[in-house]
Amino acid sequence: MEITIGKTKLILKIGDITEENTDAIVNAANSTLMGGGGVDGAIHRKGGSAILEECKKIRQTLYPEGLPTGEAVITTGGKLKARYVIHTVGPICHGKFDETEEKLLYNAYYNSLKLAKEKGLRTVSFPSISTGAYRCPPEKAAKTALKAIIEFLKKYDYIQEVRVVLFTEDIYKTFKESLKEVIDEL
Ligand code: ADP
Repeated sequence: MEITIGKTKLILKIGDITEENTDAIVNAANSTLMGGGGVDGAIHRKGGSAILEECKKIRQTLYPEGLPTGEAVITTGGKLKARYVIHTVGPICHGKFDETEEKLLYNAYYNSLKLAKEKGLRTVSFPSISTGAYRCPPEKAAKTALKAIIEFLKKYDYIQEVRVVLFTEDIYKTFKESLKEVIDEL
């Protein structure tokens, strides 16, 4: 499904984010930035070693202790269709979703878009951050994700298209339902 926020298209779709041709795709990374399972593993596998090389440099320079949760950094997209990968770290929920987890997840989306804008990028794809191995409750995570994206787009009129690329029918339905709720609340 697709809606418009100001001049920006917001698209929810089912798919594999590693196939998206937006200027950047966002990686649900972990704080080591050294790769992992899920969407992180898929991005590194398809994008090739250039991504990991840049991640290593970022660890050596900007973030020797690892990327803090809710922050974002950018690397090449390597062999991906997307020119860049924005790596962000969502909260580890283990099923719990209080104010802390909500704020950190909100920041992960918001700071990724901020970084895209700073880099002059107009189109960005997101996966559903923290709803896999990090086990945030999907409904709450979806609402937080969409709130962060929509609030950013309302504030800054720069990005042309945001795609949320959902890996399964289930999480797609959750995001679709949440989008209706978020729009009604704003
Ligand atoms: P996290 O550790 O942040 O929970 P995961 O990668 O385990 O990240 O899962 C986050 C979401 O990404 C899950 O909904 C998972 O199904 C989804 N996912 C896994 N692979 C892909 C992919 N190639 N494209 C889009 N989404 C994916």
